[in-house]
Amino acid sequence: MDFKDLTIERAHKGLLDKEFSCAELAKEYSNKAKKLNKDFNIYITLTEEEALKSAQKTDGRISKGEDVGVLAGIPCAIKDLFNTKGILTTCASRMLQNFVPPYDATAIKKLKDEGMVMIGKTNLDEFACGGSTEHSIFGPTKNPVNPQYVAGGSSGGSAAALAADTCLYSLGTDTGGSIRQPASFCGVVGLKVTYGRVSRSGVTSMASSFDTIGPFAKNTRDCALVLQKMAGNDSLDSTTPDKKVPDYLNNIEDGVKGLKIGIPKEYFDENIDKEVSESVMNAVKQLEKAGAKIVQVSLPATKYAVAVYYIVMPAELSANLARFDGIRFGSKPQEEGKTLTDYYFNARGEGFGDEIKRRIMIGTYVLSAGYYDAYYKKAQKVRTLIIKDFEDVFKKADVIIGPTAPAPAFRIGENIEDPLKMYLADALTIPASCAGLPALNVPCGKSKKGLPIGMQIIGPQFTEDLLLKVGRSYESCEQTV
Ligand code: GLN
Repeated sequence: MDFKDLTIERAHKGLLDKEFSCAELAKEYSNKAKKLNKDFNIYITLTEEEALKSAQKTDGRISKGEDVGVLAGIPCAIKDLFNTKGILTTCASRMLQNFVPPYDATAIKKLKDEGMVMIGKTNLDEFACGGSTEHSIFGPTKNPVNPQYVAGGSSGGSAAALAADTCLYSLGTDTGGSIRQPASFCGVVGLKVTYGRVSRSGVTSMASSFDTIGPFAKNTRDCALVLQKMAGNDSLDSTTPDKKVPDYLNNIEDGVKGLKIGIPKEYFDENIDKEVSESVMNAVKQLEKAGAKIVQVSLPATKYAVAVYYIVMPAELSANLARFDGIRFGSKPQEEGKTLTDYYFNARGEGFGDEIKRRIMIGTYVLSAGYYDAYYKKAQKVRTLIIKDFEDVFKKADVIIGPTAPAPAFRIGENIEDPLKMYLADALTIPASCAGLPALNVPCGKSKKGLPIGMQIIGPQFTEDLLLKVGRSYESCEQTV
C-alpha cells in the first residue's frame, strides 16, 4: 500500500473499505515522523506508543461494525503548547522542560473522543512568541520544502509535520499569524478561526485578547472536517459563545458566483515581494473567472497594525507569563538565592529565552505608570480603528484577499538578530488578529526558488464556512488548469 498523498477523507474511506488498518496507518506515519525528524526537527516528543494504542482501539470498533467518525484513526500532530494528559508539554521553553500536564486541553479532549491518533508534539517558538520557530530551546524546525529555510512560526513544527507528510492534519495556535504564516511558508492550508470559535482551555496563553487555535490540513475540505470537531461553546473558555456551529462541508462546493472579493491596496504595496503579489493576483483572477466580482478596497490603518500588536501583545504576554516563577508554575532555579526576589530572579532568568525576556520588558514598560496612557491606551484606540476599517470594507465586499506574508520563507538565521525585521513579516496577518476575524491561508503557487506562496482570505466574524468555500473554489480551479 502506498500511503503517499493521503488526505483525511481518502484515509477514512481506506479504513472503512479495509484497504489498511488504523494500526498500519499509525505505524507508517510514526516511522516517517521518526525518520524525517532527524533532518527537519519537527517534533519535540514522538508518541508512537500512544498512537498505536489509540489506533488499535479504533480498529476494534471498525471490525465490530461500529460507526466511527471521519477523524477516527487519522494520524495528527499537535503543537507543544496544548496540554496533553500524561505527555510532556514544554511550550519549547526551559521553564516547562519537565512539565507533564494532568489534564487535556478541551480541543484535545474533543479529538480524543473522535479517536485521535497523535504522532507527536510539534516544535514552536518559545511560548508561541516568534515567526520562525528559531526561538525554541530545541532549535529551529527546517522547512521540508527546502531545509535551508525556516518553516515559519510560531506553529512551524505543525506546518512542517504536514508538509513532510508525517501526519494528515495538525493543530496550531494563531495570535498574530502563527498558523497562517507557517502554512504559507510550508505550502499547506491553515485556518485562523474567529476569536472565540474554538475553546482555548488547556492551551498555554500568549496574548489573551488575540489567542485562537485552529487546524492545518492538506486541503480546505480536510480543514473543514477538523474544525467541525473542535468548534463550539465550552464552559471552560468564556470567550466561546453559544453560537450554532454550521456544517462546514455543507456549502463548501457551492463556488463563488456573485461573491464580492475586496482587494485591499495596502496588501499589494511596494513592501510586498513582486512574486508574492503576482501569485496572489493570479489566484484572484481564477476566482474572478469562476464568477466572483472584484472590488478595490482600502484598509488605511494597516500601517499601524504591527505597532499596535507589538504593544498590546507584550502587555498581555507579560501578565500571562507572571505565573511562571518557579513556585506557582515552572521549573525551579539551579540556585535558589537568599531572598524570595533572588529566587524569582533566578527562576525567570534561567527559564526564559531572550525573545521572551524582551517581550516581558516591553510589556511591563507599556503598562507601567506614566507610560500606560502613552502606549497601551493609545494602541488600544488604534486597534479600534483597525476593527472599523474592516467593518467598512465588509459593507462593500464579502471577503478580502491578499497575501498571507509579504515574502516567501526566509533563510534560517537571516532575521534572528533583527527583531524588527522579524516582526514586519507579520504585517499582513496581524490586522485580522487585532479584529478577531477568521482568516484562511491557501497555497497559491511557488517562487522562482521553489518556495511556497500563500493567499490569505479574510472574512467577517464567524464566516469560516465562507472562507473555506472560497478556498475550495480556488483549489477546484487549480485542479482544472
Ligand atoms: N509572529 C508573531 C509573534 O511573534 C505571531 C505569534 C503567534 O501568532 N503566536 O508574536
